[in-house]
Amino acid sequence: MTESNELTLVADDVVVSMEYTLTVDGEIVDSSEEEGPIQFLQGYGNIIPGLEAHLGGLAVGESLQVTVAPKDGYGEFDSEQIVDVPLDEFPEEICVEPGVELEMRDEDGDLLYARILSVGKSRVKLDFNHPLAGKELTFDVTIVGLRHPTPEELEHGHVHGSEGHAH
Ligand code: ZN
Repeated sequence: MTESNELTLVADDVVVSMEYTLTVDGEIVDSSEEEGPIQFLQGYGNIIPGLEAHLGGLAVGESLQVTVAPKDGYGEFDSEQIVDVPLDEFPEEICVEPGVELEMRDEDGDLLYARILSVGKSRVKLDFNHPLAGKELTFDVTIVGLRHPTPEELEHGHVHGSEGHAH
């Protein structure tokens, strides 16, 4: 294998630069317009699986629209992820109102996100589903660059971008 091989098509083990727009229910909810193209190592589940599966074989400059079903996106909406919590368990500084988004940590210290669905006299309904759970995702993507990963990136299974990794 020679590192000087020019890459022409998206394939596993290739670092892809891609512009994207994500549309949900007819509204743009995310795009690369402000932060610039995303970079990721294809084939390692670094992006939404239902999108990654369609990118193989695309050339630089090529565009594609992909519609991703919820199960291949952020998952189906799960009613068991809606949890009833006593109001008096909320710290006083938290504004307990429907629509407020909360960040909390579970026993393992992992970040969890929840939205307040409704507030009763003594109970609060929290929704731990991803905001895009149950949604069909429409991605409009354009491949803008391809490169070989470094041996370290390949070993880690992800790109070491300008933000840098501490490992
Ligand atoms: Zn790494």
